[in-house]
Amino acid sequence: MKIHEYQGKELFRNAGVPVPNGFPAFSVEEAVDAADKLTTDIFVVKAQIHAGGRSKGGGVKLAIGADEVKQRANDMLGMNLVTHQTGPKGKEVQCLLIEEASDIKRELYAGIVLDRSSGCFVFMVSTEGGVEIEKVSEKTPEKIIKEWINPNGNLKTYQARKLAFALGLEGPQIKHATKTFLALWEVFINYDCSLIEINPLVVTKSDEIIALDAKINFDDNALFRHKDIQKM
Ligand code: ADP
Ligand code: MG
Repeated sequence: MKIHEYQGKELFRNAGVPVPNGFPAFSVEEAVDAADKLTTDIFVVKAQIHAGGRSKGGGVKLAIGADEVKQRANDMLGMNLVTHQTGPKGKEVQCLLIEEASDIKRELYAGIVLDRSSGCFVFMVSTEGGVEIEKVSEKTPEKIIKEWINPNGNLKTYQARKLAFALGLEGPQIKHATKTFLALWEVFINYDCSLIEINPLVVTKSDEIIALDAKINFDDNALFRHKDIQKM
């Protein structure tokens, strides 16, 4: 099962994985309300569909001020969004996420999946965030750094720190990233996820680490254990 970015970010927020402040909106009115509730003037309006590559198809737009949020919401709600992951038919946008724009210094990648070949979970990071990770893996596989986790074990603090160092993080960024990776692992294991992907995970100008995107898939066989996820 897949959930939307705004729902994934809600799980992240509750688990201590930093995400931008934001609210879902199913109508233009709700989008304006969301903008009013946020304490910023620079927003990002994001189409919520079960596919990635939204920005290239016009599904992620910056908006300055609530009026621009209104315009963007008007344009985006009901539009048919085509990305490389939707196929040519595209997907209708029925929901938006209105969130605060982050002050981005670097765009990184972080993901966790089950590696069937080794029978372990694998925690992956890369300095090449914000681009298609499939291309990075094909052309420059050495740029994806991995730590393996036993199926009955946990991501260890030293592994999380190793990943932070491999990303070239420094100073307070290392502490923030280590904490974020450990929290991300908790989400993965507690919710019986089959995949978590954050692309991009950003370093902000104030050295914070924030998940700007959130893709989460769940193991359907374990859904009976998670009534809250079933509702989503
Ligand atoms: P997709 O992967 O579907 O294109 P993302 O959520 O990754 O959508 O957003 C695409 C790009 O838009 C990101 O790589 C980032 O540069 C920018 N972006 C997304 N959300 C924000 C935000 N809250 N603040 C600033 N930039 C953002
Ligand atoms: Mg993305």
